[in-house]
Amino acid sequence: MTTPTTADLLAAGQRFYLPIYRPRAVILERGQGARVWDSDGREYIDLSAGIAVCGLGHNDPDLVAALTEQAGKLWHTSNVFYSEPPLRLAEELVTASRFASRVFLCNSGAEANEAAIKLIRRWATSEGRTPDRRVIVTFRGSFHGRTLATVTATAQPKYQEGYEPLPGGFRYVDFNDVTQLETAMASSDVAAVLVEPVQGEGGVMPAASGFLAAVRELCDHHGALLALDEIQSGMGRTGTLFAHWQDGIKPDIVTLAKALGGGFPIGAMLAGPKVADVMQFGAHGTTFGGNPLAAAVARVALRKLSSPQIANNVARQAAVLRKELDAINSELGLFSQVRGRGLMLGAVLQPKYAGRAGEILDHAAAEGLLLLQAGPDVLRFVPALNISDEEVGEGLKRLRAALRTFSG
Ligand code: PLP
Repeated sequence: MTTPTTADLLAAGQRFYLPIYRPRAVILERGQGARVWDSDGREYIDLSAGIAVCGLGHNDPDLVAALTEQAGKLWHTSNVFYSEPPLRLAEELVTASRFASRVFLCNSGAEANEAAIKLIRRWATSEGRTPDRRVIVTFRGSFHGRTLATVTATAQPKYQEGYEPLPGGFRYVDFNDVTQLETAMASSDVAAVLVEPVQGEGGVMPAASGFLAAVRELCDHHGALLALDEIQSGMGRTGTLFAHWQDGIKPDIVTLAKALGGGFPIGAMLAGPKVADVMQFGAHGTTFGGNPLAAAVARVALRKLSSPQIANNVARQAAVLRKELDAINSELGLFSQVRGRGLMLGAVLQPKYAGRAGEILDHAAAEGLLLLQAGPDVLRFVPALNISDEEVGEGLKRLRAALRTFSG
């Protein structure tokens, strides 16, 4: 059989995939650290990390060892039998979380949030609770996934249009607006507030200082749960294992996915003492969730991403990125703002460049740089958390070249 050319593979993508994505026209083949190579041997600096997933970069030797060792032992049992990796991972997540009592393992972010939504509803209708407290409040600009319930929690019409009827029981308020939240909770029908500590897909928008503490207070006042979606902001990305540690609050539920498996699909819902025993036998389930391969990898990712070296590197590289983005901006005047926390950064395009983030991504790829957008107006930087000085320096050099060409 002849080896397919890049053009053949791109044509197959056009022909056989549902046309729901618009990937850059390259075929990525292998990666090492924050570098990847395409099928034509071209090298790229990767500041996208598979959408904030490859927290330890590509081809991390410890993750590879965990995966290959487990692959030679046992791949799958489903949850009708125990195996050691998911059991140990659950215990380690409980300990690392500083609040959770129990864990539900699944395969993706949407599933973790779906489980959280179901848990909230079970809790809201459990014995001794007023039956009409069922509403889940979420925030405009949020992103919680693509299943029907999580896309409804996602308070952005562009993800919902055409999928009606959507499930009921959600209420939306503006992010970082405590007064609106107070009003939304005033009728005492709210079971929970679900919030990202840093909105990712919605434009890399961090919670304002004191906002999450105010949300916690309102939840306590109204007897509602606080659920945090740390699927993108968690696993060390913002400089602490969980972003909400920087806000000095304790949640009732936290959802994780993305970097938890370092590139191997896995999700988790962590449940605090108020809700940990609400779902009993048969209340929820999954065939693949807690798969031994995924769990073996996630155990190593969790250990490595919890280390002070990662936290230090996040702080160091975030400072370099911010400084250099400011310097590029002084030269080219493209951004109105650089915002975010840790290595979850967004450069917001000036109004005159609104809607053109995608074009910049094409220029970046042409310069050998993999970059993301967060909506049409924001460039998103979510590199590996162990990215080196050299990789960041080279990435910024290529970014500057791409932005120069773009701004002409
Ligand atoms: N929640 C947040 C904050 C996310 O950023 C994402 C994905 O981008 C999701 C949930 C959905 O995760 P998944 O794509 O794994 O279903």
